[in-house]
Amino acid sequence: MIVIMRSSATQEHIDTVLERLQEHDLKGHIIHGEERMIVGVIGAFIPPALREDMERFPGVQETMRVTRPYKLTGREMHPHDTIVDVSGIKVGGGDCVVIAGPCAVESEAQIMTTAYAVREAGATMLRGGAFKPRSSPYTFRGLGKLGLELLAQARAATGLPVVTEVMTPTDVDLVAQYADLLQIGARNMQNYQLLEEVGRTGKPVLLKRGMSATFDEWLLSAEYIVAQGNPNVILCERGIRTFETATRNTMDLNAVALAKRRSHLPVIADPSHGTGKWYLVQPLALAALAAGADGLAIEVHPDPDRARSDGGQSLTLENFAALMPRLAAVTASVGKRVAAAAMQDIRL
Ligand code: PEP
Ligand code: MN
Repeated sequence: MIVIMRSSATQEHIDTVLERLQEHDLKGHIIHGEERMIVGVIGAFIPPALREDMERFPGVQETMRVTRPYKLTGREMHPHDTIVDVSGIKVGGGDCVVIAGPCAVESEAQIMTTAYAVREAGATMLRGGAFKPRSSPYTFRGLGKLGLELLAQARAATGLPVVTEVMTPTDVDLVAQYADLLQIGARNMQNYQLLEEVGRTGKPVLLKRGMSATFDEWLLSAEYIVAQGNPNVILCERGIRTFETATRNTMDLNAVALAKRRSHLPVIADPSHGTGKWYLVQPLALAALAAGADGLAIEVHPDPDRARSDGGQSLTLENFAALMPRLAAVTASVGKRVAAAAMQDIRL
């Protein structure tokens, strides 16, 4: 349920609403609309009589049922777009962000070369995994803390905010010290303790859709983070498993457009994992922006043939540089721009 307050409502009127909710073990989330204040009501059971009662409270204009299961992340309670600020870069505010970098941080030379090159080409943020979730325990699982330190070095040199994955609740404090944007990977989308832990940090979170997660499950996972008082969530479609095996995953652009419609959170797309093939990254990147995505996450490696993970879907530095003007053309056609890098004063 949402309680729409009158524009003349006083603090006392709002407090009365909140107190009554508390009596019913319900929580009230205050949402500041453009003209009016809305109280979003969260709880397991909202007695129907309470809704009618509240309509008679002073300061209350009307109440409405919220039909979707995702209350805080849906547009019903929160009609206006959320803009997530990642160390000065606004995600969801109209400009498209381009997050670029290797699947995994492998060495100082690899991450620094990539960071300078993607920055030069116009990327907005740098990505790179330090803790890698791998299907096989015998493959490269990341440099751990050293990887985080190398990302910090790359950020200091280029001014690009860094995005990196955190896999366990116990690593959240460590990773949060280095990351500007905490990535929750597809395999952890339903690790609810991890979601709550990143929620408690208040830091921006990039929530990737699980490879077998439905649209509603994805938004409900975002709900776990926002329910901890952290509204800074960016949704990321990265392809889902279907019967199709010709590509690594099936990039669900329906979900991108639907997420923009149903949720106020920014939505980005990852055509690298979405397709698994470097030569499909460009067409799907363009398509995702045309479908309304607020940005992209793209894997880029100086030598994809020798990459320790996801080489087959990684762009070379040259291919990434060639892609950027094409992205700009599509963003312009939908009335947007590619966001500039945050710290322009850093000279390359
Ligand atoms: C990644 O971003 O490198 C990654 C592991 O992605 P996903 O969780 O989408 O598979
Ligand atoms: Mn990867």
